[in-house]
Amino acid sequence: MTITATNDSLINRLQGILGDRGLSTDPATLAPWLTDWRGRYTGAALAMVSPANRDELAAVVRLAAETGTPIVPQGGNSGMVGGATPDTSGTALLLSTRRMQTIRSIDSQARTVIADAGVILQTLHEAVAKQGLRFPLTLGGKGSATVGGLVSTNAGGTQVLRHGTMRALVDGIEAVLPDGSIYNGLVTLKKDNRGYDLKHLLIGAEGTLGIVTAATLRLVPALVDRVVVWAGLDSPMAARQLLLLLEDRAGHAVEGFEIVPQRCLTNVIRHIPGTRAPLAGPHPWHVLIELVRDNPAALPPEQIAEDLMAHALERGLINDAAISVNEAQAEAFWKLRDSISEAERAEGPAMQHDISVPVAAMPGFIVDAGKSVEAAFPGVEVAAFGHLGDGNVHFHVAAPSGADASLWPDHPGKAISALVHNLVVEAGGSISAEHGIGQMKRDELARLSDPPRLAALTAIKQALDPKGIMNPGKLIAL
Ligand code: FAD
Repeated sequence: MTITATNDSLINRLQGILGDRGLSTDPATLAPWLTDWRGRYTGAALAMVSPANRDELAAVVRLAAETGTPIVPQGGNSGMVGGATPDTSGTALLLSTRRMQTIRSIDSQARTVIADAGVILQTLHEAVAKQGLRFPLTLGGKGSATVGGLVSTNAGGTQVLRHGTMRALVDGIEAVLPDGSIYNGLVTLKKDNRGYDLKHLLIGAEGTLGIVTAATLRLVPALVDRVVVWAGLDSPMAARQLLLLLEDRAGHAVEGFEIVPQRCLTNVIRHIPGTRAPLAGPHPWHVLIELVRDNPAALPPEQIAEDLMAHALERGLINDAAISVNEAQAEAFWKLRDSISEAERAEGPAMQHDISVPVAAMPGFIVDAGKSVEAAFPGVEVAAFGHLGDGNVHFHVAAPSGADASLWPDHPGKAISALVHNLVVEAGGSISAEHGIGQMKRDELARLSDPPRLAALTAIKQALDPKGIMNPGKLIAL
């Protein structure tokens, strides 16, 4: 990168705002943060700025607005679509929230927590647990993902079935808008009809409309106990029937419901040390079910699990089931589920799609789209796994054995993704159920969106960020 006189003066002014701790231009310090978690994108930046608080952050944004300098917000850099990675021009400021780590307050009566954008999800879990409370959203990247990143990607995870995505858990937001002004919306109001909801615009905006500096998040009581069930069954349709049975009979006790094809379980056991099959024989499909109790007066989850699994066996919905007898076994079942991506990666190249269709349509979609893709690209193998209860699966298409890992993702990988996305859109679904658009799916969003929807998104972006400095090149191509 060439440091020009203009850049020098910008850096000097940033230094004045942030001091030494909040500013770095050292290539070695920046390097780990310039590549995304999946290793697909590497960018460059003029500097990394790490404000200590909201006011410093606002001052940086005001300066960026004045000078037309692009800003790329970054939390834990655990995003999956290259959203927190700058382009290669080296003109942007990488704005890290790593120093904004304060949990401002926990209100156990209102059951809310106000946390700075840089608070890591796991830290948040631990802090509220000390008050007998729980933030009911978790995901594999919880050791890195931050409040600001979770809000900005409208993250989901494995408890969406009962508690919803971030959109359902965020009560308020404080943010710095692209002109450097501060939007203070942290107060929780159950009813508020003052027109457009800025909070919901900022949730899932991927840093393109402003920078979240703090959020008010909803909490629920801590768990009394839980069990995890692993069941073998014949088809995604049987899995859906089982879920309906559970929802009818166990209601809020059902917190997670994940589908796993036999291929994925086999690969986990092959590649992940210390894992073993929970059931005696193979089954075409499996489900992992988490049943919880957060009210001591409610039925124990193991009793619910035993009754319902016996009933499901009688009705022929499942072929076999194992119910965890202790926390270690519950964790071991979850490990099988959480290791699928790693095991699939170890198997060889695959095209990964994070898709949703209406919940009731997902079982049919898994089967029909799987057949279409395997017929169109002979030798590939589809593995669809994940949040069946949310109508969201990770639809992986694995390369034929022997495929060249450096060439296959481009050809025919891109054509495979285009076909999967076309099928999703035909089914009325979304090409991004959880991970967002970032730079990875930006062109596919433009190709497949309804023109009026895309025009409205573009108009919102242009209205709030007329200079186009907030995370340019992500989500929407301008
Ligand atoms: P980053 O990766 O740093 O940024 C993500 C996006 O948010 C970028 O566009 C960035 O510019 C923007 N951003 C970050 N902070 C701010 C801010 N303060 N203000 C405005 N914009 C900001 N996601 C799911 O939804 N469900 C899952 O089940 C799931 N599982 C995962 C498992 C693993 C192992 C990993 C590594 C990731 C997983 N993710 C999952 C993806 C990821 O954890 C989430 O997208 C998370 O919300 C990203 O948080 P982050 O702080 O790392 O954000």
